[in-house]
Amino acid sequence: MDAGNEEGRIVSMNEQENDGWQYSLRPRKLSEYIGQDRAKDNLSVYIKAALKRGEALDHVLLYGPPGLGKTTLAGIVANELGVNFRVTSGPAIERSGDLAALLTNLSERDVLFIDEIHRLSHAVEEVLYSAMEDFALDIVIGKGPSARSIRLDIAPFTLIGATTRAGALAPPLRDRFGVIERLDYYEPQSLVEIIKRAAEILGISIDERGAKEIAHRSRGTPRIANRLLKRVRDFAEVEGSGVITAEMADAALGRLEIDKIGLDRTDRRMLLTMIKKFAGGPVGLDTLAASISEETDTIADVYEPYLLQLGFIMRTPRGRVVTRAGYDHMNVPYPDNGGKNKQNDSYYVEESLF
Ligand code: ADP
Repeated sequence: MDAGNEEGRIVSMNEQENDGWQYSLRPRKLSEYIGQDRAKDNLSVYIKAALKRGEALDHVLLYGPPGLGKTTLAGIVANELGVNFRVTSGPAIERSGDLAALLTNLSERDVLFIDEIHRLSHAVEEVLYSAMEDFALDIVIGKGPSARSIRLDIAPFTLIGATTRAGALAPPLRDRFGVIERLDYYEPQSLVEIIKRAAEILGISIDERGAKEIAHRSRGTPRIANRLLKRVRDFAEVEGSGVITAEMADAALGRLEIDKIGLDRTDRRMLLTMIKKFAGGPVGLDTLAASISEETDTIADVYEPYLLQLGFIMRTPRGRVVTRAGYDHMNVPYPDNGGKNKQNDSYYVEESLF
């Protein structure tokens, strides 16, 4: 997914340029990978079976929102299989020759990880089909009437594809994955574990309640949890005793304008715009985008999913609508007029947000 203009946004699920430090926090073993029990249990069985048979693991498709640990899990699979882990991404493989080069360099049973696999070009995808199915590359040599196709064998390998949208994958590609696992948003308790583990690795002191406070504001996403932990640490060291307590976390996240459930200023501005300017909706995506000066795609890909998941907004054929839960969270009385929201200026809203 394109990070759009949200670079620097602390609650962004997308990887940002300065997120590299998080790689050191990636667990290396299945037993260290917290949460996602269903995917973990299934993969553990498939890994054991592949090892027992001495064969490459079936191709695996991991899908789910960014920052939930797809790359991490793929790396763990390679590690547990005891093979090399090669990482690339859909947009990085520009020509079919690039993919051919990657594939011919793989050793037996290696794992090739392709992030954002839904962004592969059609030509590259075609090459992938025979590679996945027959461990072979069909290469055309020459041009015109003298062109001929030769088949090149490659080592049996495992492709692990990751995507934020399983539905965006071409069916012939999707069908070639023997294993398809969805990663879900993490429960707060799992995030507490992830935060405590990261704190230990980074040498940060944090108590249970401090970890909980951060977990609840991390939007179910480890990447955000790690980022919040690091920012709160700065406040704890400069303005506190160095230990992250619930009070410290609350104060720091308040300063960063991240509310109790992880909404930031832009999320709240979007909700308030819908409530104030469009009487709670329905409002079309383009109109909404124009009124908060964001790209339509950024709203659809970045802001909307979490608000939809919380049930604060709904998609309707005529546009987006703020739900009662959305009004409640913004402390605005829900207009009680048979479900048809109307403009009401008498309530308190954070005017400064506009
Ligand atoms: P994705 O590939 O889905 O975008 P990543 O695998 O890059 O996500 O995960 C983002 C960061 O979150 C990782 O660098 C890692 O530190 C952390 N992380 C993700 N999943 C877990 C987990 N289950 N346990 C601990 N840390 C995790």
